[in-house]
Amino acid sequence: MSTLRGRIAMVTGAARGIGAATARTLAEQGAAVAVVDLDESACAETVGAITSAGGRAIAVGADVSKREAVERAVERVVTELGGLHILVNNAGVIRDNMLFKMTDDDWDTVMDVHLRGAFLCSQAAQEHMVEQRYGKIVNLSSTSALGNRGQANYAAAKAGIQGFTKTLAIELGPFGVNVNAVAPGFIATDMTAATASRIGVEFETFQKAVADAVPLRRIGRPEDVASVVAFLASDGASFVTGQVLYVDGGPKG
Ligand code: NAP
Repeated sequence: MSTLRGRIAMVTGAARGIGAATARTLAEQGAAVAVVDLDESACAETVGAITSAGGRAIAVGADVSKREAVERAVERVVTELGGLHILVNNAGVIRDNMLFKMTDDDWDTVMDVHLRGAFLCSQAAQEHMVEQRYGKIVNLSSTSALGNRGQANYAAAKAGIQGFTKTLAIELGPFGVNVNAVAPGFIATDMTAATASRIGVEFETFQKAVADAVPLRRIGRPEDVASVVAFLASDGASFVTGQVLYVDGGPKG
């Protein structure tokens, strides 16, 4: 499949998990991909997987919550890959705690990475997208946006991402830029493994319990999210903007 041939994409938090699967999927569909993560050397595995499969990718180290780092990263992408058509705001962290135990740092870290990160990356990317009258931004929300015990910070950030997405769709639509969000349910990654460990449950047991409550009777894989992101980044979705697509195996019964 080469629906993204000639496109240049930047995926944040792409050293592992959903971001890494998204970077690989976009590359499989023909895009050149900037694999962005906190630590540039941590991007080597994702970049290697893409280049060894015949694709084009570069590693870029940047903390998405820092303006200067983000601006430098976007400039590197444009200079080294030759432009920027697709931005996937995927970088994320969790600092779960019940409200009464949540610290200022738990709150601020989650807001900074998810919300400020998506804001800074989108602001830097839109400059190029608006100028070329073409762009696709896909933001990672979550089913936690609807509320999740122990995640007041994360739920607020992921609900914020939905409002951010709809507002950017309104502002950037006239310039040919589509902005959408995906809201995954439980996906097996290091992030959900950390949740299992926090609540003191074996990851396997945790996954099975979650799967039993999902209509499709399984938990998600990073590739389940990646293929939906790739669709929203493609011209097959060119009349879709301001939407939140849940990728969660079905609604809760
Ligand atoms: P993950 O495996 O923990 O990967 C997140 C990646 O983001 C890591 O490589 C991490 O780097 C990077 N990152 C963290 N802070 C960053 C920063 N300030 N700047 C740049 N990169 C940063 O997480 P995941 O499960 O793949 O989640 C990816 C996205 O999907 C997140 O936005 C998450 O909230 C969302 N999501 C996940 C699930 C799920 O069930 N897994 C469900 C719904 C939504 P380090 O390794 O250096 O920390």
